[in-house]
Amino acid sequence: MSDVLLPGAMPGESKEMTLDNAKEMTLGVMGGGQLGRMLVHAAQRMGYFTAVLDPDADSPAGRVSHHHIQTAYTDPAGLAQLAQICAAVTTEFENVPAQALAQLAQTRPVAPSADAVAIAQDRAREKAHFVACGVPCAPFALIESAVQLAQVPDDLLPGILKTTRMGYDGKGQVRVATRAELVAAWDGLKQVDCVLEKMLPLQQEVSVIVARGADGACVHLPVQRNLHRGGILAVTEVYEGNMPAALAERAVAAAKSIAEGLRYVGVLCVEFFVLDANAPAAQGLGGLVVNEMAPRPHNSGHYSLEACDVSQFELQVRTLAQLPLTQPRQHSPAIMLNLLGDLWPAQGTPPWDQILALPGAHLHLYGKAKASPGRKMGHLTLTGTTVDQVRATALEAARLLGIAAF
Ligand code: ADP
Ligand code: MG
Repeated sequence: MSDVLLPGAMPGESKEMTLDNAKEMTLGVMGGGQLGRMLVHAAQRMGYFTAVLDPDADSPAGRVSHHHIQTAYTDPAGLAQLAQICAAVTTEFENVPAQALAQLAQTRPVAPSADAVAIAQDRAREKAHFVACGVPCAPFALIESAVQLAQVPDDLLPGILKTTRMGYDGKGQVRVATRAELVAAWDGLKQVDCVLEKMLPLQQEVSVIVARGADGACVHLPVQRNLHRGGILAVTEVYEGNMPAALAERAVAAAKSIAEGLRYVGVLCVEFFVLDANAPAAQGLGGLVVNEMAPRPHNSGHYSLEACDVSQFELQVRTLAQLPLTQPRQHSPAIMLNLLGDLWPAQGTPPWDQILALPGAHLHLYGKAKASPGRKMGHLTLTGTTVDQVRATALEAARLLGIAAF
């Protein structure tokens, strides 16, 4: 079934990796954040050993993994050790140096590939890929020089200036209404390579998680509707009717073609904007445009742990270990609330006793010692039998936590 090398096997030797010999198997992950932690949990449940490479002694995933290699992501000795222990390696964060993945790939299967991750790390390359797949994105211009800055077409304003690399959670972005603001914003971003995107009239934001195996099999989670606040995901709602069905089908098909076009192996999240079709700025864009992709499980997919029969993290394990992919089925409507550090009082914790008294409340805390504003400390997923019930419980949880209603 697979050519995955076992730890300790001589190069060229391979042994089938199945659940029967899973105990011998170690799966590796670059990065020790909460996504890595939930991957480690999923892998361990299926009998795998795990190894995390992260420089932080106290990383959420490092603390729960069998092995924690505590070096810089580009440290050759750390990477060699990871490759030596692991049968296959993945990443839990987008900005992992692609070079590190390439080094690992010399001796071990790495999924997703360094090439796919490098494209996702660069907004300009990412957009070129979307266009090549026939999926429309927001009108944009590349800004890599003062000449390009001066040539920006008027109709991209008002817009959002985004650094092509290293942006996340709204960081590395400036909203600009005029040319003067654009010039000032580019200076403020130290004139690094940027894209200027036209500001679109968003009706909704949604995301689709797909998992694609090395054999080309591709499955997806249901379309997630996302509410961002201050550039950070705040709420994800997933249930029948969370967006128009025809658009949902288009979003799934687009996400699959984006994965297909990359010959992607692993879990990929693609974010979309649903446009307010009546607004002038949406004309000609067809109602749905792709925003960006993440080459890993995604915050908007956490609900799948309790609301689907296969979670995004199990999908990541399955793609990494070359196990079969089955189409996940959502069995409960779900709403996820992100628990940011802002919710923590100066002393103590949010009222977990009251939260856990709510029916269908699933609390996840990532084991981060210090709460600070905007820091993702955990999440809460509410599941139930009906959408109305889940919404009512989620709104009650939000009220108890001090999260604004949605
Ligand atoms: P990040 O990498 O920080 O998630 P995004 O490109 O997804 O960056 O932008 C963050 C948020 O900013 C989006 O979720 C959306 O709410 C808003 N946004 C981004 N681009 C546009 C756009 N072209 N038009 C309108 N809103 C946008
Ligand atoms: Mg985003």
